[in-house]
Amino acid sequence: MSEPEAGSDLAAVQTRAARASGGWSLTGTKLWTGGAHENDWCVVLCRTSEEDDRHRGLTQVILDLHAPGVSVRPIAYLDGSEFFNEVVLDRVFVADELVIGEVGSGWAQNTSELAYERSGPERWLSTYLVLEQYLREHGASDERAQAAIGEAVAGWWGIRTLSLSVARLLDAYDAVRAFLAETPPTQVRPPRLLSGDDLKDLGYTPGPEFQKILSTLEDAQLEEAVLTRDQALEFVRRNYPLRQVGR
Ligand SMILES: Cc1cc2nc3c(=O)[nH]c(=O)nc-3n(C[C@H](O)[C@H](O)[C@H](O)COP(=O)(O)OP(=O)(O)OC[C@H]3O[C@@H](n4cnc5c(N)ncnc54)[C@H](O)[C@@H]3O)c2cc1C
Repeated sequence: MSEPEAGSDLAAVQTRAARASGGWSLTGTKLWTGGAHENDWCVVLCRTSEEDDRHRGLTQVILDLHAPGVSVRPIAYLDGSEFFNEVVLDRVFVADELVIGEVGSGWAQNTSELAYERSGPERWLSTYLVLEQYLREHGASDERAQAAIGEAVAGWWGIRTLSLSVARLLDAYDAVRAFLAETPPTQVRPPRLLSGDDLKDLGYTPGPEFQKILSTLEDAQLEEAVLTRDQALEFVRRNYPLRQVGR
């Protein structure tokens, strides 16, 4: 994704794919590409057409990192180790069958993949397997091993909690959308949706879950600008059963 002039502003990607016989010809520079110096393939977000809306006209393709026209330059850390790379593409051919999804839908595909990547359980599960194997082979009888394992488990616990809470927020947001599709709104953007007092009236006890319900509704409201107050109350009743939340 990232490029010299397109980091946080991802829609500014300059890498272009021009139509070529049976595929595309890619030219541009990618930056901070993790692992490109060791991998065989990478996913490239590139511009396949110029559109007024910069979020349109982007496409994702799979690129062979050994193809003619690809140069990969590792960017060394201060300690000399390497992970990130600059990847320069000079008229690199990518066949049509290596387009991911649809031509022109790169923005929607890319951003939804990122949402899942950020909540991905593989972030902790991939290294957790190493611990299991270590315990199988060596056990945890001496104190130094116990201290190292304790430290690692504490770290994983934090990442696991983070990953679960992001996944739950994504689910809750999907639930709001599904609910709106089922019960179309009759009124647009009420001045205020629900307050803490409304939730207390419904029987919920203030606490972290209670705050989560309010912020989920607020986020959905900002994006969709459509939930009515009655819908919000019904949504809370259906999706957050009192016996689970009202502790
Ligand atoms: C561990 C790690 C792995 C990564 N792996 C990959 C990878 O595999 N592939 C890939 O493509 N990229 C990867 N990246 C790069 C990452 O996507 C970029 O770092 C990110 O998009 C930010 O871009 P940038 O570093 O160019 O920062 P910039 O966009 O230049 O931002 C620099 C600073 O300016 C601030 N800023 C930017 N825009 C604004 C604004 N409009 N208003 C106010 N402040 C602003 C930012 O918050 C930041 O502090 C990785 C990054 C990390 C940390």
